[in-house]
Amino acid sequence: MHDFQPKTIIEPFRIRSVEPIHFTTSAQREAALQAAGYNPFLLRADDVLIDLLTDSGTGAMSSRQWAGMIASDESYAGASSFYRFEAAVRDITGFKHVIPTHQGRAAENILFTTIAKPDDVIPNNTHFDTTRAHVEHAGAEARDLVIAEGRQPRLIHPFKGNMDIAALEATIEQVGRERIPAILLTVTNNSGGGQPVSMANVRAVSAVARRHGIPFFIDACRFAENAWFIKTREEGYADKTPQEIAQELFSYADGCTMSAKKDGMANIGGFLAVNNDELAAKCRNLEILTEGFPTYGGMAGYDLEAIAQGLYEALDEHYLRYRIRSIAYLGDRLTAAGIPIVQPTGGHAVYLDAREMLPHIPPMQYPGWALNNALYLLGGVRAVEIGTVMFGLQPDGTEQPARMDLVRLAFPRRTYTQSHVDYLAEVILEVNARRESLPGYRIVWQAPVLRHFTIRLEPLGG
Ligand SMILES: *Cc1c(COP(=O)(O)O)cnc(C)c1O
Repeated sequence: MHDFQPKTIIEPFRIRSVEPIHFTTSAQREAALQAAGYNPFLLRADDVLIDLLTDSGTGAMSSRQWAGMIASDESYAGASSFYRFEAAVRDITGFKHVIPTHQGRAAENILFTTIAKPDDVIPNNTHFDTTRAHVEHAGAEARDLVIAEGRQPRLIHPFKGNMDIAALEATIEQVGRERIPAILLTVTNNSGGGQPVSMANVRAVSAVARRHGIPFFIDACRFAENAWFIKTREEGYADKTPQEIAQELFSYADGCTMSAKKDGMANIGGFLAVNNDELAAKCRNLEILTEGFPTYGGMAGYDLEAIAQGLYEALDEHYLRYRIRSIAYLGDRLTAAGIPIVQPTGGHAVYLDAREMLPHIPPMQYPGWALNNALYLLGGVRAVEIGTVMFGLQPDGTEQPARMDLVRLAFPRRTYTQSHVDYLAEVILEVNARRESLPGYRIVWQAPVLRHFTIRLEPLGG
């Protein structure tokens, strides 16, 4: 038999435990959304058919993960589950000290409380919102230095998450090494559309950091997806495994923060890993205060087991090929239909450009919000607005249009199949066909900060 190279990329798993999803009528969705103040965050998940609000902690675990969880060690100190977790993190990252935390932001809290102080500046390609919040909570400035290509939604570039090395050098020159306690790099660049960072860029950032004696940390939440992009897009990596690529990437850094709710393939958990003994000792002191004893750090033994196994499953080539392809597949279908999306599709989500799709809705009538609500009303799909409702409210209480009005469709890991994605494409195309009839929104009530979570709105024109 000749070798057969199938064109169809299939889900690399079969399903042995299923969870029903909930169908609703359009009258039920209309009533549910109205009761939620036209805010999808306030919907009950049971009223949602396909939930793409986030890829964080929403994935499916494997039979191996569940098996490990059943056999976990729940000892307060020195549990064998911790040592399995620590061995997996060390094997993949190479970092000496592994500090478990209940999720990614707890690792950020411990790191920035320990290293940052008022007037410091922390450069990053793009700070994720919890990262920015923790940097600012420590009184420091979070400075985003992604390459110019990374700010242009329609521009195709293989590594739009890269750090602008010249801007990084200029920042160090301007601010001074002593006011920069760390340089960060987020892989993939979540807030920049899940766009990857190249190995060459990681190496370049590392070289700058080393030359100036500044510690260099990776925000590693989607390290496995990033490894896949390096394997498939960067010269010299095609024959390396995702694990070898991840190991090389971490070797250039002094530590990392991680949310295991992403490429840890777990529903909760995270860690901080560092090489420096003195820093590790300080971080563990704070960990005991805020998270728990250093061999569990806010997690149950079974969470440690789920992550120890999940980190390797995230690096499986068949899984990564299917994962990245499912996102690109939706992107291709939308692009073929002329629907504007952020290009190229990244590792965990497709971003619809609502401002471009709905030109009759001005930014101050929230086109992203309008589009997301239309997806729900028509197809029971929940995504999230990343636009003027999320970012428009200024600290002085005034309102400005956000830089873009996007709707992010984030894919939970191993949760939906190709027919779900086909359905999704059909819903988006149908909303697009009816786009001229979609109303804008006005705000009825809002909180002074992070308003999108609890905001209430109403459609204009009744
Ligand atoms: C999710 C995320 C975090 C925070 O992790 P949590 O587990 O949600 O606290 C930090 N950085 C990035 C890039 C993320 O995607």
